[in-house]
Amino acid sequence: TAKPTQRPAASKEDKLIVIDSGHGGKDSGAVGMLDGKQIYEKDLTLSIAKKVREVLEKNGYKTDMTRTDDRFLELTEPPAQANEENAAAFVSIHINSVDEAPEASGTEVYYSVLNNGDSYGATSEELAENVLTRMLYYMRSKNRGIKTADHAVTKRCKMPAILIEVGFITNEDELRNMCSDEYQYKVAQGIAEGIMNTVKDITIP
Ligand code: ZN
Repeated sequence: TAKPTQRPAASKEDKLIVIDSGHGGKDSGAVGMLDGKQIYEKDLTLSIAKKVREVLEKNGYKTDMTRTDDRFLELTEPPAQANEENAAAFVSIHINSVDEAPEASGTEVYYSVLNNGDSYGATSEELAENVLTRMLYYMRSKNRGIKTADHAVTKRCKMPAILIEVGFITNEDELRNMCSDEYQYKVAQGIAEGIMNTVKDITIP
């Protein structure tokens, strides 16, 4: 029996996910103290981003990173890269901090209302919700919710884009967790599942 000619649905290998590790090089990001040692946000974000890449690639997704080592990028560079590469989704990983409130804790995810179109079949808000849901499932951290902000990296992206604040570098318990490989894999598994749950609905216009 003859079937009507149909373009096959884009396979997941066709959908590139760009992972951005916040800060780098001369920009350390927030600084925490653990057992008398300084811990830099830029190192935690890179370490988690590499694990997100690992989980996504294990699941057959194509990924790219904005940096794979300790280098400084202008804030316009990650979105320019994602746009140029025609990515399906963009995820920027950060660690939160707050002065004089060591008890502050939890996970929050931002998107920019300047980039929340549905021409990709899924919005930045949906990506944020899916990622936060799966992160909380694995991390069991406090839910600080979905927030909007016009961050330099997310607002310039054409595709669904989010900025994740994994936890607080100023909270000793969260910092200790975020420094452990085991916990970083939980974070990465949550982020990757949230991305995969969204990217399946994405068609690149
Ligand atoms: Zn940051």
